Amino acid sequence: MIFSKKAEQISPSITLDITSRAKEMKADGIDVIIFGAGEPDFDTHENIQNAAIEAIRGGCTKYTKASGIDELKTAICEKFRRDNNLIYNKSQIIISTGAKQCIANVFQSILNPGDEVILSKPYWVSYPELIKLSDGVPVYAAANEENDFKYTSEALNEVLTPKTKAILINSPNNPVGAVYSRSELLFIANFAKANDLIIISDEIYEKFIYDDFKYTSIANLNNDSYNRTIIIHGVSKTYSMTGWRIGYAAGNEKIIKLMSNIQSHTTANPNSIAQYAAVEALNGNQTSVKLMVKEFKIRRDYIVKKINTSSTLSCTKPTGAFYIMVNISKMFGKIIDGTKINNSIDFAKVLLNKEKVAVIPGDGFGVSNYVRLSYATSMENIKEGIKRLMDFSQY
Ligand code: PMP
Ligand code: GLU
Repeated sequence: MIFSKKAEQISPSITLDITSRAKEMKADGIDVIIFGAGEPDFDTHENIQNAAIEAIRGGCTKYTKASGIDELKTAICEKFRRDNNLIYNKSQIIISTGAKQCIANVFQSILNPGDEVILSKPYWVSYPELIKLSDGVPVYAAANEENDFKYTSEALNEVLTPKTKAILINSPNNPVGAVYSRSELLFIANFAKANDLIIISDEIYEKFIYDDFKYTSIANLNNDSYNRTIIIHGVSKTYSMTGWRIGYAAGNEKIIKLMSNIQSHTTANPNSIAQYAAVEALNGNQTSVKLMVKEFKIRRDYIVKKINTSSTLSCTKPTGAFYIMVNISKMFGKIIDGTKINNSIDFAKVLLNKEKVAVIPGDGFGVSNYVRLSYATSMENIKEGIKRLMDFSQY
């Protein structure tokens, strides 16, 4: 029997796959340290939990408007006004089952077969697959370590074609942690304007910024960038709500309407209870977010310092998100436990078997000479995991 050719091309999410395998090992009693999927290790804060319980008791358990409840749209508009000085009205907002669904919706809404979307490489695993599912073509502009893992004008011009439809920017970035400054964003906005591209700005890690770096959204540079940008955001990371599945998007009313129409058929509204909880997350006290970011900075600094004492591993200090890309190229050619390390997949496999440490191979992000560590795990785990990684690096 022949199944969908499009579906056959899609690989499973390597971040989720490895993490669930490592969690299974842990459940089997194996002492694994997991630097896998990026999800904050803190509990969702009590005020948010209580809002969900109240929503259940108050009967908020039915279908809502497919694009989400008005209360949450209002809270999202207020968030953009407060944090980013961006004015949206409710018809410019959609709430979805995670930011992931917003990204899927936006590609389905803007792409025709063969349309190209520029991604910086290393890229987050799901972007290329979601573009392909929408009959689009992902094209990759190199964002190398020498350029702080950011777009350069040469790399962008190299991949630009008459079929280029959109450019994606993810700042702070998963997997590299790069954060774009206002002037760097202006250069991307000008590139988009000159070539009439839609900008998709994935801002889900907005709150995870260290060293007093000032965050800017590409949408608030000028009128043109505001009009051509769709912002992707959500509560998963900021409020430690990965399992609740609430993401949102803001931008051009026509595109948001197309996204809502699609969503009304695929999933309809995101979970009603989680939507009420998200209202409390956005409107409530924000102290827990600040405390989490403070803790993440301590973890980042610890890992960066330790890794750079190794003679075979190295990393730069990322400004945002909660990931570190460790350069493993000096390990290539080594034979450990009978396996020759030729790429990041070999490295991750042997590391897991030998030291019981789970990391995400860079191959999942389009780069073979790195592995990604998520530091959204306890300091205790980090200390033990880094010790094992350092032992491994000495083979
Ligand atoms: N964008 C990026 C860059 C991410 O890392 C993630 C994490 N899964 C998402 C979007 C999707 O987040 P959500 O949990 O809201 O679907
Ligand atoms: N965004 C997280 C990560 O990259 C969660 C996993 C996923 O959604 O693929 O690890």
